Amino acid sequence: YEVFDPSMYTYALKRLQLENDLRRAIVRTTSPEATQPEFSVYYQPIFSIATQQIEGFEALVRWQHPEKGTISPVDFIAIAEETGLIVPLDRWVLKTACYQLRAWQAQFPMPAPLTMSVNLSGKHFYQPGLIEFLDSVLEETGLDGSTLKLEITESIVIENTEAAAVMLKQLRDRKVQACLDDFGTGYSSLSYLHSFPFNTLKIDRSFIKQLGMEEENDEIVKAIVNLGLILRMNVVAEGVETPEQVAQLKDLNCHYGQGYWFSRPMNGEAMTEFLLGAIE
Ligand code: C2E
Ligand code: CA
Ligand code: CA
Ligand code: CA
Repeated sequence: YEVFDPSMYTYALKRLQLENDLRRAIVRTTSPEATQPEFSVYYQPIFSIATQQIEGFEALVRWQHPEKGTISPVDFIAIAEETGLIVPLDRWVLKTACYQLRAWQAQFPMPAPLTMSVNLSGKHFYQPGLIEFLDSVLEETGLDGSTLKLEITESIVIENTEAAAVMLKQLRDRKVQACLDDFGTGYSSLSYLHSFPFNTLKIDRSFIKQLGMEEENDEIVKAIVNLGLILRMNVVAEGVETPEQVAQLKDLNCHYGQGYWFSRPMNGEAMTEFLLGAIE
């Protein structure tokens, strides 16, 4: 027999509640007659370390729960993945971010047009119909595919290397870029890196956090940047928080940086204000 554990019951109940709330929030945000959107997309700029110019943005989802306040994606993405709700959520983020990027590209013309990185969960990456959806978004927004980047993690690739290769090829046919997110935290394999057409490596912030504190860690960051150079991939350092880290990354010839030192993620309106100040 099993002992009844009240804490497990509470956990299951809370979890069920969150799942229901998530379902409602997605309907309220994405249905055509959406009147009370609970999700919003925040944008964090990505900077060239050498020139200090904005290169583009990463789109990050936010949930404003009517009773519980802001809930971090860390606390709901896993449930959204388990329930399949991640697919409509990721698609809504993708579409919203593409419209926003198109507007910013028009308002802030640059020699190299601004780019947008969007996170895709593994569940979504292998969902049939993703490419068709992507095509419809590109057509509807008139966005140049080469200015869109999709971020996936290594574990997604390892999960199904054959399907990943097919997907990445289809992205490449549309000139949509692929970024390997959280690089260094998964089961990095050089052979995968070499054979999959990723355009960008994002060094996980756990490495950037320790920059200048531990020699071995610094050597790892240096090795990742050099790996990017060899494989002709752009390298983005995540979680850059201090000017010392910027200086170190510059010494290492790391191309791009993203983090609180440059800017926190902001909603579209606040980011437009930020851009008005940052781009003349
Ligand atoms: P991620 O893709 O690694 O995104 C970077 C996270 O680091 C973001 O957390 C961002 O706010 C945070 N960050 C940026 N700069 C700094 C910094 O200088 N210091 C520190 N400590 N943190 C920094 P956030 O927005 O809470 O998102 C957490 C994770 O949730 C993301 O990690 C991503 O895996 C996932 N996520 C967010 N939005 C989406 C989405 O639309 N779809 C999917 N599938 N996943 C998403
Ligand atoms: Ca990411
Ligand atoms: Ca990341
Ligand atoms: Ca992460």
